[in-house]
Amino acid sequence: MKTRAKLEVMSIKKISLALTTAVILALVTTPHVNAHTDGFWLGKWPNTPRTLKWNYLGGHKYLGNVWQGAANWNDSISTITLSQVTSGSFHIEVYDATLPNETYWAQAWTDTSPQAASYSYGRIKYNESTMDQTSDFTRTKVATHEFGHIFGLSHVPASYGNNAIMKTGVQAYNDVQYHDWQDFAAKY
Ligand SMILES: [Zn+2]
Repeated sequence: MKTRAKLEVMSIKKISLALTTAVILALVTTPHVNAHTDGFWLGKWPNTPRTLKWNYLGGHKYLGNVWQGAANWNDSISTITLSQVTSGSFHIEVYDATLPNETYWAQAWTDTSPQAASYSYGRIKYNESTMDQTSDFTRTKVATHEFGHIFGLSHVPASYGNNAIMKTGVQAYNDVQYHDWQDFAAKY
């Protein structure tokens, strides 16, 4: 599939200092990460705050999808709430970019290195060049999936027998699945 992952949030200054160069890249044909062994998404958010504010900066072209992706998680979990803000401080920055030479739909970053334990901010970037080519249904799948990375969830292998939003690629569902809830609950 076409999703890169990794995460981020609070201030541009902080982002520029802390953003790692490593990203999770998962092509549909060559998934090289999975839910429990890729070693990338080992961290999590601390006990405070448990309301994570997200702000869709710039053109916010997929705002409806991102809003629904956040709502999908909020409907499924109780220990963390995703809350949209349009001003003030925030934990998760969302924005769009036009990247015609890239094949991924989106990337997510954390502020910490892959093995770090505690997150303080996250960032999600959508590639308009590929997102525009997919369906509205799949855009919401991508949005839900990327928030999963922000929580510290890794990919679930395509070979896994049950549904998971953390599988890469187009799926017949676009909201949080039971396996995702289990992975989330194991962290939080
Ligand atoms: Zn992913």
